[in-house]
Amino acid sequence: MDRFQKLRIKMVENQIRARGVTDERVLSVMAKIPRHLFVDEALIEQAYNDNPLPIGKSQTISQPYIVALMTAALKLTGREKVLEIGTGSGYQTAILAELAEQVFSIERIAQLAAGARKQLDALNCFNVAMRVGDGTYGWREESPFDGIMVTAGAPKVPTILLEQLAVGGRLVIPTGGRISQELLRVTRMSADLNEVKTEVLCGCRFVDLIGEHGWNN
Ligand code: SAM
Repeated sequence: MDRFQKLRIKMVENQIRARGVTDERVLSVMAKIPRHLFVDEALIEQAYNDNPLPIGKSQTISQPYIVALMTAALKLTGREKVLEIGTGSGYQTAILAELAEQVFSIERIAQLAAGARKQLDALNCFNVAMRVGDGTYGWREESPFDGIMVTAGAPKVPTILLEQLAVGGRLVIPTGGRISQELLRVTRMSADLNEVKTEVLCGCRFVDLIGEHGWNN
């Protein structure tokens, strides 16, 4: 077992399982994906720590526990089509690629998207399609999605994303102010967009979702 694998197992047991995430598929994928390959070399020793880390361009790779919590909230079985908004380093994307059938991921910063694509290709994540642009519009041509995950904080739930959710599909999104948000799971209950079930998963602090249906800048 290599050094990083030991750190990954500790991360899963102490930071994730101990805090109540019980989805075994999520736990085993997080014990497998090499998070240290998604951070800058200078931060490699901190890759499995219990906190977010900078990835450049004033953005972050999320805390491992938050990645696990958001992933588990989608309740993936392996057959789903998932949209991720905010590719960042590509770490969360790699986790989703292992747990869903197809992943579509949008990042607004081209340099981050290029770095993420490189790592995802190196890990043979060939079921991931990526696009650079404003993800707050979603990816309508590929909709409906069984799950949508937004990895940046929005002022409110964008209706345009609910429209792209399959009936029964789940949207996981941090919403609230620019300093702190609530992590929501919104389940589309019927074709009528007014019939949604909204659950608050926890308080959280994310970088801004910047775009037409997010913050202005
Ligand atoms: N999940 C990522 C990871 O594992 O590294 C972390 C994502 S980081 C917290 C949020 C990302 O959302 C940033 O890379 C940011 O550039 C991106 N972002 C913000 N607004 C966006 C938008 N409208 N469309 C696409 N990406 C956006």
